[in-house]
Amino acid sequence: MSSQAAYKTDPGPQPDEAEGSLPAGREAARPSPRLDPAEAARVTPMMAQYIEIKAANPDCLLFYRMGDFYELFFEDAEIASRALGIVLTKRGKHQGVDIPMCGVPVERADDYLQRLIGLGHRVAVCEQTEDPAEAKKRGSKSVVRRDVVRLVTPGTITEDRLLDPARANLFLAVARRRVSETEWRYGLAAVDISTGRFTLSETDAPGLSAEIARLDPREIVVPDTMHDDPALQALWADLRAAVTPLPREGLDPASAERRLKAYFGVATLEAFGAFDRAEIAAAGSALLYVEKTQLDSRPVLQPPAREGAGATLAIDAATRANLELTRTLGGERAGSLLATIDCTVTPGGARLLAERLAGPLTDVAAIRRRQDAVAALVEAGDLRERVRAILRQTPDLARALSRLGLGRGGPRDLACLRDGLFAARDCALTLTLAPDLPDELTAAAGALRAVDTGLAASLEEALAEDLPLLKRDGGFIRVGFHPELDEARELQQDSRRYIAGLQSRYAAETGCRALRIKHNHIIGYYVEVPQAAGEDLLKPPHKDTFVHRQTMAGAMRFSTVELGALEAKIASAADRALRIELGLFDDMAERLLRASAELAASAEALAVIDVTAALADLAARLDWTRPKVDTSLAFHLVGARHPVVKAALKASGTAFIANDCDLTGSDSGHILLVTGPNMGGKSTYLRQNALLVVLAQMGAYVPAREAHIGVVDRLFSRVGAADDLARGRSTFMVEMVETAAILNQATPRSLVILDEIGRGTSTFDGLSIAWAAIEHLHDVNRGRALFATHFHELTVLAERLPRLSNATLKVTEWNGEVVFLHEVVPGAADRSYGLQVARLAGLPSAVIERARTILSELERSDRERPKRALVEDLPLFAAPMRQPEPPKAVPPTRDALRDALDALNPDDLTPREALEALYALKAKR
Ligand code: ADP
Repeated sequence: MSSQAAYKTDPGPQPDEAEGSLPAGREAARPSPRLDPAEAARVTPMMAQYIEIKAANPDCLLFYRMGDFYELFFEDAEIASRALGIVLTKRGKHQGVDIPMCGVPVERADDYLQRLIGLGHRVAVCEQTEDPAEAKKRGSKSVVRRDVVRLVTPGTITEDRLLDPARANLFLAVARRRVSETEWRYGLAAVDISTGRFTLSETDAPGLSAEIARLDPREIVVPDTMHDDPALQALWADLRAAVTPLPREGLDPASAERRLKAYFGVATLEAFGAFDRAEIAAAGSALLYVEKTQLDSRPVLQPPAREGAGATLAIDAATRANLELTRTLGGERAGSLLATIDCTVTPGGARLLAERLAGPLTDVAAIRRRQDAVAALVEAGDLRERVRAILRQTPDLARALSRLGLGRGGPRDLACLRDGLFAARDCALTLTLAPDLPDELTAAAGALRAVDTGLAASLEEALAEDLPLLKRDGGFIRVGFHPELDEARELQQDSRRYIAGLQSRYAAETGCRALRIKHNHIIGYYVEVPQAAGEDLLKPPHKDTFVHRQTMAGAMRFSTVELGALEAKIASAADRALRIELGLFDDMAERLLRASAELAASAEALAVIDVTAALADLAARLDWTRPKVDTSLAFHLVGARHPVVKAALKASGTAFIANDCDLTGSDSGHILLVTGPNMGGKSTYLRQNALLVVLAQMGAYVPAREAHIGVVDRLFSRVGAADDLARGRSTFMVEMVETAAILNQATPRSLVILDEIGRGTSTFDGLSIAWAAIEHLHDVNRGRALFATHFHELTVLAERLPRLSNATLKVTEWNGEVVFLHEVVPGAADRSYGLQVARLAGLPSAVIERARTILSELERSDRERPKRALVEDLPLFAAPMRQPEPPKAVPPTRDALRDALDALNPDDLTPREALEALYALKAKR
């Protein structure tokens, strides 16, 4: 999503709108007016209030509370009605023109918010901040006070229904500081308000896009100077997240430091670790944005933790997309590596797995620590099953705690913490009983044990069985928990019994068996009788008891003094009961929030256990192996499988062919040049080797019989332009920009996957670029690499480059049909089998036949001018790398025929001489 579309309030033409034509009603779209003093006198007080609040929140749709609805006006109404498919009406006039209006009912507001946020809008929620009765006291024309209580933006939501349970909901604040005339250092602060996570990292300019891609935020806030910097425009435009500019004021490191200290109540930031100034500035702007969007509420955030630079495997955005790590090229989760390996059973576990997959480690000790934990649960199948059974019952602790912290929690959030705490206790107990627990699990069990078990017990004691969503509905405290509450409730019960008694008495006194006592919100309790009986009540003796209120079709309604008194008593008992319940709720929430650090650590520990058990389960079920990970430059896989393709093939009953790969080097990596027919399995093979690195370095087992991987520092994967259509930018330029990034950044410790590079241009152009790129990889970058190509000419490079070898996908022909064996073997493919594939694809046989004729003609001329000779002739190896010389011109070959021809001048010849010259030439042939 482009940054433009993301945060301006008008998303522009909707997909179903034809370009250039405005939808009906759009012509009338006028921006919400601003109020100048002269005009203020002419609009209604309510409209004046609306316009004022809207002017303070110009970049948001304003949800303006009126009774049971949030109303939208002017342009906001038009945008929302289009986006939500709700009716656009009008209300009053502004400057003689109808004011467009639409509204959403308060109790369904979440659904509408979700859709608007999903479309990239921001919403300001404006509530009535006083009782309408209070406003009336100031005069009949006075308007109820209203104020924006919250900005709802994609990166700051907390409601369960608005959030994806399996995905972190981050917003990212980015800041930078200049380190030289041309260089900047970037600080990134990632905040997940829904769980309280707060992490900082820093990077240089080339690493910025990769770092943003790793964090995968829903929203990014940057100082307006960065937002408008031409050098960053392409980056912002490329992001999936909304980019919001913040005014510069208050974003400097000094204000940021003050804000951080105040938020966490500390005198110095040293306790949290050593931060770069750019990181502190980013953390400060993150907190500023929290304040801006949450207004009076303060989410419980964990103190900022630093994610060390270089601690994670650097994977840039294009590589992530290309390898389909967390989503497919089409943007779906299903079909990605994450979806394939996700066997977690808790939302927190799913989020942690996604985070680990997005940021595999580079520290061998940390990787082994995770592997040890997975290994322990692979071995102990019983223990794993017991733990997973407990985890299945574990709700989303972290998000419930965050809602309580923001004052948006309900009774079900308390229940969530209760159940989570019990699960934590059971999990800790189960793990503690196991012998030889590895460090990672011991630490997790320790965090679980650190929480006061009394908390869960007291929640259990206090909470009723069936819980309402909202605390204001009451009824969530268990009977018998609080004597005063029970008393108030009994009074309510008694009153109800009393009403039943009163109804029988009135029925007897009036002789009307159809008499009923009912209740509604407008007139409260009343007596209702059929019309005929009602006429009786208007007369003595009943007239003194029954006071007429309403006449309905066929019925009459009355009130009585007794009913009035009773109503007051019931209302006060209900009020009292609710007040007590809300008080108890606040007590419980406060107790939990006091323990928020331990609770957050528990939630994290449960997530770690879930991820570990899930990876162990996967490894055990699918027969995956623990890879040997060290600091060497080894890359040796035996019997490796592509987890996603294998799963897809299994679903269709086809077997996957496992393959080996060896790129091991001593001080530089090895390059494997893979040729083979289209559809042979080249791309699958290349990607599977990259995916196994990601899995190994995130601490998981890998789908292979044996695996030895020396830690990779950067992973690059590129696909030639022709394959890149899914990204919607199948241009050769993009391919070259991305290839350039690899050749400039890959180190001897990197793994580079290049698939069909150079295919997006003419054959010789493409071949030359691929050729030069391989040489550069071999001589300059010196990393481990896989290079798949159609240019069979490149296979001769193996003779010249010592660390390059050829591999091909095995194919046989059977009855004239090509059969792909998907087996990678040493050697070069002799041809592409393009025609066979074209026939399989159903190209008309006439076309195939014609292509065959052309091919044999081309092959014949190729044999006469063999490529190898051409290759030898070209100054390809003459020029040492890094000192390119201009290519020497190839001298034209001389021969007798050519000399004779050159000697002729047709203008000087008679017709007879010309004929003789022709015979002479023919004779020289
Ligand atoms: P190429 O890149 O050579 O055109 P792909 O890697 O796209 O080929 O593979 C084409 C198809 O072949 C895949 O969609 C998959 O169904 C199948 N395939 C690839 N590798 C294997 C394998 N190792 N075992 C079984 N089927 C495979």
